[in-house]
Parts: sequence; structure tokens; C-alpha cells
Amino acid sequence: MLKGRAVENPKQLNVTRADVLFRGVRGCCPNCGQRGLMASWFHLNQRCKACGMDLAKSHGFYSGTTSIGYVASIIFVIIPICFLVVGEVLSVRAGVLLGIGGSFGFIVLIYPLMLCWMVMAYHFVLPEELPANQADLPPEGSDRGA
Ligand SMILES: [Zn+2]
Repeated sequence: MLKGRAVENPKQLNVTRADVLFRGVRGCCPNCGQRGLMASWFHLNQRCKACGMDLAKSHGFYSGTTSIGYVASIIFVIIPICFLVVGEVLSVRAGVLLGIGGSFGFIVLIYPLMLCWMVMAYHFVLPEELPANQADLPPEGSDRGA
């Protein structure tokens, strides 16, 4: 089925979509693969600490994180609790309380990972925007002894 897929980018990428995916799933920078993305539990750095890749330019895109969190908490918290209530493992009262507390807790818990995954998703779609894939530009801050 994928046989006829056209290769849109004739230039060889230094960092492939597979690299971006593999690094992003682990919460690492898609550009360098280091853990330099997070400033705090709820905020990305302006730039990757390790390679200096600009994380601010696509910030509008990353604000989609909160809507991912709602969907994830419905799938991984609310629906399982509904099954437990229907199966009479939990009382309705316990289910409601667990659902409210659980979904807040779940979003807070996975928030840094969601931010990293938004960075990953952005660069999975646009891998040519990674500094490592812009070979004509020297890496920022590098001291080329030429
Ligand atoms: Zn980096």
C-alpha cells in the first residue's frame, strides 16, 4: 500500500522522522537526543539546554498540550473508572471522586511528557526545521576552527 509513496524531500535528513519519534517518546530533544527541553514541570525551556535549538518559535503549536491532556484523561482515567463502577467494583460516589481527582492528577503527572510529545509531533511533521537538518547553517555556538 505504501509502495507508491513519493519521497518529497530529495535532501538526505541528518535526523530522520524515526529519530524524532524515538527521541520524543522518551522526552528527549528531537534535534540532539539530550534531555534539555524542560525548564520546570509545566514549562519548556526557550531553547534546548544541550544543543540550543529554539523551542519558542512554535509555542502556539505546543499549547495544544492541554487538549491532549483532556482526551488522555478521559481514555486512561474516566473510562476505566466507568467500567469499575458498572462492574460494581467501585461505588458511584468513589467512582466520581476518583474520576475528578484522578483526571487532575493524571494531567499533572503526564504534563512534561505531553509537552515533549508536542515538540516531537511538530518536528515529526516538519523534520527539515530541525537545526541538525539545516546542513548549510553552522550549528549555533559551535566553534569551527576553520
Ligand atoms: Zn537539543
